[in-house]
This record gives sequence, structure tokens and C-alpha cells, in this order.
Amino acid sequence: MTGNIVTGSKKEDPAAAPAAGKKNLFDMDRASLERFFEETLGEKKFRAHQVMKWIHHRYVTDFADMTDLGKALRAKLEAHAEVRVPQVIFDKASTDGTHKWLLGMDPKNAIETVYIPDKGRGTLCVSSQVGCALNCQFCSTATQGFNRNLTTAEIIGQVWVAARHLGNVPHQQRRLTNVVMMGMGEPLANFDNVVRAMSIMRDDLGYGLANKRVTLSTAGMVPMIDRLAAESDVSLAVSLHAPFDELRTELVPLNKKYPLDQLMDACVRYARGKKSSVTFEYTLMKGVNDQPQHARALARMMRQFDNAVQMKDAAKVNLIPFNPFPGTRFERPDETAIRSFQKLLNEAGLIAPVRRTRGDDIDAACGQLKGQVMDRTRRQAEFRKQLQAQGVDDAA
Ligand code: SF4
Repeated sequence: MTGNIVTGSKKEDPAAAPAAGKKNLFDMDRASLERFFEETLGEKKFRAHQVMKWIHHRYVTDFADMTDLGKALRAKLEAHAEVRVPQVIFDKASTDGTHKWLLGMDPKNAIETVYIPDKGRGTLCVSSQVGCALNCQFCSTATQGFNRNLTTAEIIGQVWVAARHLGNVPHQQRRLTNVVMMGMGEPLANFDNVVRAMSIMRDDLGYGLANKRVTLSTAGMVPMIDRLAAESDVSLAVSLHAPFDELRTELVPLNKKYPLDQLMDACVRYARGKKSSVTFEYTLMKGVNDQPQHARALARMMRQFDNAVQMKDAAKVNLIPFNPFPGTRFERPDETAIRSFQKLLNEAGLIAPVRRTRGDDIDAACGQLKGQVMDRTRRQAEFRKQLQAQGVDDAA
């Protein structure tokens, strides 16, 4: 989903070292911003609320334009703080309404953020890391290795860029209704930054999204699922992809550390504690995990989950036909196999929608709503083209 590029941008260099001692306000949720106003600026808490509205509701980043703040406070903010947005290297609109941004995070790293409109909702797929260390075998992100965690500012910056572009006005003109932490990276491996960013997404002074409309997707970091239950209140999605340990360990190596019984127990605890369903993502790969025995075992597992949670439809399954990318050994099953798999789940009483591919024409289709399936070489060529078009040298 991302590249590993050297932009050498001379315009809006995202890598420019933060002005000495200045705090990027994108890094702060309500509680930390209130503290910053009280302890660093010697101001009342409500001033922090005013600034949050300027930033997240009106997309104003220049303190001079925050007209309901006094001159003295604006000067103090100028001295101690900044609002540093990610650099938009380029953005593309698909004919189906999907929109993709390539955002520069530092001179060597860029990530993609994708907006997917659908009936009555607009979902933003947000990244939590540059690259990923978990090495899931069917994921293009995994082939790029792990570079680094994104900061809270870099995570919320993705939401800000998309929301501003969409003309989103929280509580009024809502075009951004859902956020899924399903972009590049394992969100639970960057716990603090992700949780703080999700708090801004759900805050009325931030993007005002309902708890259940912010979804965190994990490959199964069991202890962190429990920590998430204790510290946040969002929807949980789990990248399952196999109903048997041996196969899942092959596809998702993390399964060796946290096998299915431990993972499912953690999901039961989460669902019980939150009194909410858990979504299980299942990427269908031809001849690998798309056979009737897989469907039957998956259905059994989901029914057991419902029983353990003691809630009807506690388990939701999303079927995602694999989107091939260059170099992968996996293939997408044909339509008949996909429908047969779905039918077996339906017959077992499970609702299991097949996720439609969106944004194909702009390479924004998701393999598993994780790891955009763009060939790295092709992507880098595209970066270079875009950068050259902007008159920016590419030192990659
Ligand atoms: S599927 Fe998710 S957790 Fe697995 S390698 Fe890709 S980004 Fe990482």
C-alpha cells in the first residue's frame, strides 16, 4: 500500500524537522491538548476546544486565521505549536467514487489512504505503520517489510486530508462516516498512537464518529486485543483467513504465537465486554482456503463464537476474493467457487457478504482491506512520474 521513496520535495516537505520545540497539535487528543493549554500555555481548557474545532471541523491550520482567539494566545500558539499536515504527493479519483491519496510522511516514506463511498456511508481506510512486520503471505504490504510506526499526527493527518477534500462537516454534512484501521500495518503493534488517533476520530471536537463506526483490524495480537478492550471502545475486526491452525500459521505467521483457540477466546472476551459483534475477514484464495471443508469449519467456528458470546450474529464474516498482485503465488477463486463458499456459510445461518472490489481503475482495490495491491515497481514509477510532473527531483 505504500512506497518507500525519496521525494526531495522542495514545496511542502513533510520531513522538515519540526520547528524547534514546537508541538504538532495533530498529535494530541482532547485530554492531551487540554493539558498542553493549561500547563504549557497557561490557558483555560476551553481554548483547547476552540482550537480543535478550527483544526478538525474547519480545516484551518494557521493560528492567525483562528479569529475567535485573542492576539496574545495566537502569538503563544505560534511560538509553541504547529499544525503540520501530511504532504499530498498526489490524489486520484476512481470512476466509482473511490478516492486515493498518496501522502508523504517523511523524505523516504509515503502511505496511501483510500476513501470508499457506498450507499449512505463513506469509509476511509487508514494506515497505522509504514510497511508491516507480520509477513502475512498473501499481503503485498508484507513484501515491503517494516519501516516504522506512524505517529498519531500522521494517522489523524490521513483523516484530515480526506475530510477536508470531501468538504466533510462533522455533525452537519457528513461525508466521512466510517474509519477502518485496515490500511498498511498492524494497528495493535502501534497501540498508543492508534488509540489516541481513534480517540480524536470519535471525539465531538474531532470527527465525531460513533464508536462502532471506527473499526480496528488486527491479524490477532491476542494480549493487545484485551488491552484494546480495556482502553478503547471501537469495533473489532480480525483477519482470520483460515479455520485450521496449520493453514493459518502458513498464511498468517502470527498464528504460531497466538493460535486460533487463544485468538477466538480473546474475541469472545472483547465481544462480551463490549456487547458487540466482531467481524472476521476471510480472504478467499483459490485452492488454498476456498474448499467446502474450509467453509464448513469456518461456519462451525463462527457458531461456537456466537454461543460463547451468547449473542445472535455475534460473528460477522466478510468474504474478500483475493486481488492478485505481481509476484504472488496466490490466485483469486472463480465466481462459482466464491458463491459456493458463501452458500455453505449462508446455509449454516451466517450472513457473509462478498466484498466488492472498488477503485480498481486507480489501483485502490483492497486485497483484504489491508495492503493495497499495487506492484511496488509500478507504484514507484508512478510516484516518480507524479513528482516529476510537480517539478520535484526524485533521488530514489
Ligand atoms: S495483512 Fe495486515 S498484518 Fe498481515 S502483513 Fe499485511 S498489513 Fe501486516
